[in-house]
Amino acid sequence: MATLRFHAVKESLKRKPLHVEEVNRRSEIFGSNVFNESAMRQYLTKDALSSIVEAIEKGSKIKRLLADHISTGMKEWAISKGATHYTHWFQPLTGATAEKHDAFFETLGGGLAIEKFDGGQLVQQEPDASSFPHGGIRNTFEARGYTAWDPTSPAFIYGTTLCIPTVFVSYTGEALDYKTPLLRALQAVDTAAVAVCKYFDKNVKKVTAALGWEQEYFLIDNALATSRPDIVLAGRTLLGHSPAKGQQLDDHYFGTIPARAMAYMRDLETECILLGIPVKTRHNEVAPNQFELAPIYEEANLAVDHNSLLMDLMQKVAKRHNFKVLMHEKPFAGVNGSGKHNNWSLSTDTGVNLLSPGKTPMSNLQFLTFFINTIMAVLEYEELLRASIASASNDHRLGANEAPPAIISVFIGEQLTKVLNELETVTKGKLSPQEKTDLKLNVVGKIPEILLDNTDRNRTSPFAFTGNKFEFRAVGSKANCANPMIVLNSIVAKQLIGFKAEVDVLIKKKDMKKDDAIFNILREYIKTSKRILFEGNGYSDDWQKEAEKRGLSNNKTTAEALQVKIADKTVKMFESIGVMNRVESEARYGIEIEEYILRLQIESRVLGDIARNHVVPTAVKYQNILIENVTGLKAIYGDKFKKLAKEQLELIEEISNHIETINSLVTIMTDARKTCNKSTDLYKKAQGYCKKVKPIFEDIRYNCDKLELMIDDELWPLTKYRELLFTN
Ligand code: ADP
Ligand code: MG
Repeated sequence: MATLRFHAVKESLKRKPLHVEEVNRRSEIFGSNVFNESAMRQYLTKDALSSIVEAIEKGSKIKRLLADHISTGMKEWAISKGATHYTHWFQPLTGATAEKHDAFFETLGGGLAIEKFDGGQLVQQEPDASSFPHGGIRNTFEARGYTAWDPTSPAFIYGTTLCIPTVFVSYTGEALDYKTPLLRALQAVDTAAVAVCKYFDKNVKKVTAALGWEQEYFLIDNALATSRPDIVLAGRTLLGHSPAKGQQLDDHYFGTIPARAMAYMRDLETECILLGIPVKTRHNEVAPNQFELAPIYEEANLAVDHNSLLMDLMQKVAKRHNFKVLMHEKPFAGVNGSGKHNNWSLSTDTGVNLLSPGKTPMSNLQFLTFFINTIMAVLEYEELLRASIASASNDHRLGANEAPPAIISVFIGEQLTKVLNELETVTKGKLSPQEKTDLKLNVVGKIPEILLDNTDRNRTSPFAFTGNKFEFRAVGSKANCANPMIVLNSIVAKQLIGFKAEVDVLIKKKDMKKDDAIFNILREYIKTSKRILFEGNGYSDDWQKEAEKRGLSNNKTTAEALQVKIADKTVKMFESIGVMNRVESEARYGIEIEEYILRLQIESRVLGDIARNHVVPTAVKYQNILIENVTGLKAIYGDKFKKLAKEQLELIEEISNHIETINSLVTIMTDARKTCNKSTDLYKKAQGYCKKVKPIFEDIRYNCDKLELMIDDELWPLTKYRELLFTN
């Protein structure tokens, strides 16, 4: 057996589950490492605390003097928890998290030193972060970028560092991160939704978007994972023959969690709980060694931060257990890939979930208003929603038979379809009292009971209504949720603003009653939005044809999908609600399309290297053994050797053919890359990589995988699928 593979398998077979301390009352340690309200009460003055609360609730500014109080309290709390450093923690456009640690420690001269952290250090920092992607923003404007405290996401201690969630913006105010536009989008949807809520309840002052993500991942023994250059450098396997047994028996899904994985999960969950991430659910997923973890949903900005933190934490905890977490959307061919469902809803400060049917006809009309407006927003911006989840890695999953297609449609279930059909027949113009009573009693008033037994669940829909929330299921497993959350909240905000304007026109100009006007507009929306509703099998070929007829986009690759991000309609939408200006939209597009190109470039290089430097030499080695064998047989048996060495001779030829094909394909791929690299137009370059370079991956892989089946197992250098997927 090849040495690295042999060593890795031996190591992984030795592993036992790590013993982890049991914490059975998680509620007692929940948020211990978070500077939450209870910690603040202990460490802050009343004024300081109420200024933070006000900043969170109303977005008001914290005065410098109070910032000094807060930073001092925060520092004392952090030191009491063992922290020595602090960092502004942010999410640059790499999608990962960034931190640069500074010690509290400062010298005073004369041999004296203190622990110091003032309000200025809390509120704003200027990291020398010039190497983060900025899409040209910092070239054309100011070279500097700064981080600024986001008091709506509480500070926390990670290891021995106090982490302060911050936004990251250029000196001229352009967003260089994910959080800035997310906060603006949440503000926009808050304002727009509150205005609409006033039709139903004058007391509503704030609407909050919630996000509950579900994180899928693979857990692979670290020695095995790092023995594969493709996993190390590209996060996925670029070749490898399917094992005899994959997921066909469905014996992993919801099965008993393997002991080593379980020890890892317990450890991870304890860390999450200490950091205030309210993890709740864990289970085996469909593919071998694939799992899922989900928390209780939270306010969207916090939930995004928590998911980013979690993805980091997962790798850190995995190290202790000698695991590597694969968050790639398709790490292994032939078995399911991973996604990250984004469950989303809106709720008011009066305690109402706007996407949950209520107890009275009026609250149900409110529910229908938000429900139908969300559908309209998705219809109007389906292509942008698709773009928000586009990445080189997610391209492998979308449209495959396990994941939603690249076509965005909305599933609402049979009962709500019926309700919408009935509402559609409402008379145009003013309603008669009788009709209104009928409507309220028999249609709108009946929703709660029907939804209760609505167990109808369509797993093939990318955007499904699931009782009291919408579930966006096409998000990639390693994506930062901010991207889809920025888009979803923005388009709903934009839609609600338009809706309110239309209703107000009917009220003012046509002298209609408020609910008559609402019914009228909703009826029109129902008619228009039918195009995006789909209850059937999203994985079927028929749906692709049907969607095309309906004029829905079906952008199968990232290169195509991203284009809409710089379309005039998109740029204007973001501008009109103050989420992103043109420069910011264009910069993001540039960064994302460039990342797509770079990912494919890396994969192509890695594959070329593995094929030429690992696979081909091994094939030659084995071929030589065969040749030696044939020569030996000839020496002993003379002419009879041909019959005796028939198999060997055939294998020798087949191996030669594969070697030749692999070598020429790698050359063609390298040349294609060179041609693409000459292009200065990012879109053309991306298209080139997508259409000319990437398709060759499959051909190279096919030939390498054939060789894997022919060559002596002991010689094969790359850890095999059966070892990666079934060792735990
Ligand atoms: P599934 O069947 O898809 O696993 P679950 O009911 O287990 O769905 O919920 C999945 C996720 O949805 C969890 O993260 C949960 O917290 C979240 N969730 C539940 N209710 C809401 C809501 N009203 N808004 C947002 N997310 C929610
Ligand atoms: Mg789900």
